[in-house]
Amino acid sequence: MAENRPAETGFEKLIGKQPLTDEELAALLDTADYDDRLFAEADLVRRQVYGDAVFVRGLIEFTNYCKNDCYYCGIRAGNSHANRYRLTEEEILSCCREGYALGFRTFVLQGGEDPYFTTERICSLVAAIHTAFPDCAITLSIGEKTKADYQAYFDAGARRYLLRHETADPAHYEKLHPASMSLANRKRCLYDLKEIGYQVGAGFMVGSPYQTTDQLVCDIRFLQALSPDMIGIGPYISHAQTTFAGQPNGSLALTLRLLAILRLLFPYVLLPATTALGTIAPNGRELGLKAGANVVMPNLSPVRVRKKYELYENKICTGEESAQCRSCLEQRVKAAGYHIVTDIGDVRR
Ligand code: SAH
Repeated sequence: MAENRPAETGFEKLIGKQPLTDEELAALLDTADYDDRLFAEADLVRRQVYGDAVFVRGLIEFTNYCKNDCYYCGIRAGNSHANRYRLTEEEILSCCREGYALGFRTFVLQGGEDPYFTTERICSLVAAIHTAFPDCAITLSIGEKTKADYQAYFDAGARRYLLRHETADPAHYEKLHPASMSLANRKRCLYDLKEIGYQVGAGFMVGSPYQTTDQLVCDIRFLQALSPDMIGIGPYISHAQTTFAGQPNGSLALTLRLLAILRLLFPYVLLPATTALGTIAPNGRELGLKAGANVVMPNLSPVRVRKKYELYENKICTGEESAQCRSCLEQRVKAAGYHIVTDIGDVRR
């Protein structure tokens, strides 16, 4: 009898909410055979949980100074061609004011690991934003810090933190980063953040150099153990002034497949359709939304610095004012069949 037949394929198990073995997960990642059905099922689950809502988070890229030398990243310390900048507290507050007027209620402060921004300076910045916009959520994405630092930012008013784990395989981590960095410390940070009470975002690049399917399975297993509130994934995109210059970019197809699989494994998770996804394909973010993504992060940085925050080449949205960015995304989200929600979007249960 067909209806009593146990789920046989990894795909059937996934949509039936049954656990998959590593082999089944790997097989699913390696085939395009189920893509259309994966996207449809992921969209179904996202609509059951969130309806057609897409949450917006205003991104402020406030410094491109960085003490780290991640081999894939365009703002790595070793890139002597990078044109460095940092915004003042007043400039950052002005980005928030503009964003607030446009309806944003979450500000994501992202930057390189810039020693100028000491714990005191970050806390003063967070407190100033928190005082000026008490109805907004403040997200930080400023890399690896001590638990005491994370606690101080929290006490100043930060409630969310984005720190992609980048890869959950220690050997792969070593291929992407200099010896001064380690997966163990990255993971320590994520668990510290959770313990303090942050809503945490982890994630990784799809198609980063040397990445294998088994490592993607490892990423998914790590995410299942961590259970983050947000999972940020986007294709790896090469940058000429990095160790990995000339390495092939990650693919649109695999990124979309992963988004769908993540939506099915983590029905409640916040899943951004990232700028990198919009960079490898003109309609990448729309396709991401249709494959289960439910967050967009328009850029609120001043236009004059946007090109300088060049994590990878040909990054989109670097020439437009924030208002244009906001309305462009609104159109795209609408055309994809969803609608932007401008409230705080706090979905913590
Ligand atoms: N210093 C912060 C912010 C890093 S930039 C931190 O360490 O968390 C944010 C993310 O951009 C990184 O976590 C990385 O996953 C992504 N990124 C960096 N270089 C990239 C590239 N060349 N292609 C695609 N994504 C990249």
